[in-house]
Amino acid sequence: MKFGKIVDVFEPLEKVTSGNKIRSILADFFKKCPASELKVATYLLSGRISSEYKGVITGMSNKLVLRSVSIAAKKDLKKVNELFKRTGDAGLTAQQLVGRRRESLSVKKVFQSLHKIAGASGAKSQDFKIKELANLLRIASSKEAKYIARLVVGKMRLGAGDRAILDALSIAFTGSKEARKELDKAYQANPDLGYLAEMISRRKIRGIKTVGVVFKRPIKVMLAQRAKSFQEIFEKIKGEMAVEEKYDGERMQVHVQGKNIRIFSRRLEDISRQYPDVIDCIRRNIRCKSCILDGEGCAVDKKGRLLSFQLLMQRRRKYDVEKYIKKIPVCLFLFDLLFLNGKSCLQEDYPARYKALKSVVKKQTSCAKLANRIVTKNPKKIQSFFNKMLKKGAEGVMIKSMENDSVYKAGTRGWLWIKWKKEYAKGMVDTFDLVVVGAFRGHGKRAGSYGSLLCAVYNSKTRKFETFTKLGSGFTDKQLKELPKIFRKYESKEKDKRVSAKKELKPDLWFKPVIVVEVLGAEITKSPLHTAEGLALRFPRFLRFRPDKSAYQATSVKEILNFYKKK
Ligand code: ATP
Repeated sequence: MKFGKIVDVFEPLEKVTSGNKIRSILADFFKKCPASELKVATYLLSGRISSEYKGVITGMSNKLVLRSVSIAAKKDLKKVNELFKRTGDAGLTAQQLVGRRRESLSVKKVFQSLHKIAGASGAKSQDFKIKELANLLRIASSKEAKYIARLVVGKMRLGAGDRAILDALSIAFTGSKEARKELDKAYQANPDLGYLAEMISRRKIRGIKTVGVVFKRPIKVMLAQRAKSFQEIFEKIKGEMAVEEKYDGERMQVHVQGKNIRIFSRRLEDISRQYPDVIDCIRRNIRCKSCILDGEGCAVDKKGRLLSFQLLMQRRRKYDVEKYIKKIPVCLFLFDLLFLNGKSCLQEDYPARYKALKSVVKKQTSCAKLANRIVTKNPKKIQSFFNKMLKKGAEGVMIKSMENDSVYKAGTRGWLWIKWKKEYAKGMVDTFDLVVVGAFRGHGKRAGSYGSLLCAVYNSKTRKFETFTKLGSGFTDKQLKELPKIFRKYESKEKDKRVSAKKELKPDLWFKPVIVVEVLGAEITKSPLHTAEGLALRFPRFLRFRPDKSAYQATSVKEILNFYKKK
């Protein structure tokens, strides 16, 4: 298949915003796409060159891409950079400068080249990447060059997301959205769009129903709802519940197959290289042929006392891993089991999964143990466990249903798990993970830094980051000074297409929606200034950065609406 066929889909997707239109454009393409090319085409349409969980990226920034453009177009790099300054987009820059050829590249050639670029490592890899991309751009048409450059930097600027692709696959291969539910389930257990596309095209819904958990393919993590009041917990969960300590660390999904062990983050990245100590600990203390464990890894001191999340984040490093293992030891607190000896446990209830979890934990040690928990339905006991956890320094508790329907809802934020945190007890609303989309310059004491940050929540329906609050307090002097340094590389000339903000609230600087901050808020009120359903967070205070979250994993509009309605 010619790459031009995919470009013919990219082009309208860039302009169209209606969900129905997007679905029908994609579905039409899938119907016509040859079976042998479907997998690769699906990855490319999702703006990637592999599945989300494999996270294969080209590792090329705008700067490097512009160097390739300069070589391919035989234009002075200074001129290329100038054009980039005007367009703000490597794709448009490439389109305007390269690609005088008519004939179209093949999908295979583009895909192979992008993988070659992604696979390059070592001392001379940067030069290799630049050259390989330049060679590809040299034989591309200008339209193709635009999308190749965007694929390389990972910014497709398209309206279609993974959900639209799943809808379109269902429509293309079953004639309606009827397979969507099954596709969703399959996607949560096995988030690989290319694989699912092949499966549904060949074996329809029957095939999709057989998609299960696969070793070394991370499962989307189950998430918790937040309770507005203590009372609400008992409205949502009847009968006995597991009340567990809520650890403030990093979610770890551990895949074990004999001696072969991998750890995946909440963002489905393979973080095994950062935690060889955790892997070693699991190897010694977990007994099974194969299993997938769910837990929270926390920094601990020599006496096993829990340390802060910020400290743990220092373990997210490429270099000096060994040094930091000693400096910041980690303990994995286990609370769920998703797969055991070749069989998925996702559809089993929580008591059954927990029983299986207990059976594989050979020994509780300082590096891996079961999460602290009680099982009760007595509110007094829950309150006293909660108080005990707070005294210990925990964030709060996680309350989990033990009913027959308490399955593992991968990738879903439902009422089977409820978080109850200390902020509620303090009368605060809660903490929110917000995406920084702009900044207002500081004056007086804050001259040279920012006076406040414009923060947004994510709306998965409109696929927009909608503004929710202006964040100006909670920063230390040092943090304030560092803000411009942190945000400089995300500055963009104009409002990002994915950001929705009112004209009256125009910040001095716009940022690409990348950085997530955790914010404590006191009240959600109606406000005509913000686009998040006209709701705003009052008295926000900065707590910390959340490098473990992507912008799309920020607090959603749905969550804040839920919160507001329950007031
Ligand atoms: P969320 O994960 O709900 O999007 P978040 O990352 O901001 O939000 P919190 O709202 O603070 O985190 O709480 C949920 C997270 O708490 C889980 O994703 C998990 O990483 C962590 N966690 C800690 N202890 C537990 C536990 N016992 N059971 C489940 N999750 C736990």
